[in-house]
Amino acid sequence: DKYVADENRYEKMNYRRTGNSGLLLPEISLGLWHNFGDVDDFENSRDLLKCAFDNGITHFDLANNYGPPPGSAEKNFGKILKKDFKNYRDELIISSKAGYGMWAGPYGDLGSKKFLVASLDQSLKRMGLDYVDIFYHHRPDYDTPLEETMGTLDLMVRQGKALYVGLSNYEPERAEKAFKILKDLGTPCLIHQPRYSLFDRWIEDGLLDLLGKSNIGAICFSPLAQGMLTNKYINGLPKDSRAVKDSPFLNTDKVQEMLPKIKALHEIAASRNQNLAQMAISWILKDDRITSVLIGASKTSQILDSIKAIENTVFSDEELKRIENVLKS
Ligand code: NDP
Repeated sequence: DKYVADENRYEKMNYRRTGNSGLLLPEISLGLWHNFGDVDDFENSRDLLKCAFDNGITHFDLANNYGPPPGSAEKNFGKILKKDFKNYRDELIISSKAGYGMWAGPYGDLGSKKFLVASLDQSLKRMGLDYVDIFYHHRPDYDTPLEETMGTLDLMVRQGKALYVGLSNYEPERAEKAFKILKDLGTPCLIHQPRYSLFDRWIEDGLLDLLGKSNIGAICFSPLAQGMLTNKYINGLPKDSRAVKDSPFLNTDKVQEMLPKIKALHEIAASRNQNLAQMAISWILKDDRITSVLIGASKTSQILDSIKAIENTVFSDEELKRIENVLKS
């Protein structure tokens, strides 16, 4: 059956301006790191994207290496675009990235012009697109001159293969240098994509201030600490969870270690009439320097649940204090 998007979708989401650019992003964006590979159920992936878009999530975040196997998330996303989203390309913001190891040899990793140009061309082919809306350098490369990497981002925009560019995982000092180079080239950096959650506060140590001061957007990944900041592990370890499935990125030891804090945060969320997932997302959105929260989901019910976070993004000082006390404990 032909997919027709919910006509009320734009009433269900809030959109924030990305820095001082012309681009608005939804307060919640969907990432395709997990659950879109060849190892995953294609029909479920398709349902996730439809559910997101039906709820006003206009931004889908990918990277060359998402899968597994690497590349398969972009390939599957391309198939779904063709089947379901043909008429909606101009209502979507599609991001990709390169910077982590993608193919063998000296040209398949890090930040050279050779790698980035080839990787974006491969990504466009896999997704069946003429251009991505945002292209990111995925992580800093300390051996390639910043001028080369930033010059390549500028080139991609001039060639029409990307509309905007961003950086991910750059620490403040290097980010500031990169912003300056990009600005001088005439392709200002649109957005920075760092990890940020109640459990990972590193961006409060300089990066957020830099982004605020520079008027550059921020989109925060792993806001739920990969699922730990939800109620899913409170009563045991569900078989279909990321920690129990053999993810190299989250294991049950980590979950057990964090469990006392998870339980205490869960109580605070309840006192706000939210669940923990919703509070964890709201807590990020309380800062207006942040443009969007980049969630993952393995089920459509999780998207519908998490999205309610946008309804209450105000915290009292008392609530913030209670949260800090739990995190310090
Ligand atoms: P999250 O912290 O949002 O974790 C997502 C996982 O949490 C889901 O897969 C699901 O896990 C669980 N979950 C989500 N919602 C709920 C809910 N309401 N209730 C219970 N459980 C829930 O983000 P990710 O770590 O997945 O990262 C999100 C995106 O960020 C990625 O897809 C990617 O686009 C981007 N990213 C970027 C990186 C970079 O270097 N730039 C690095 C990492 C991510 P389960 O499978 O257990 O159901």
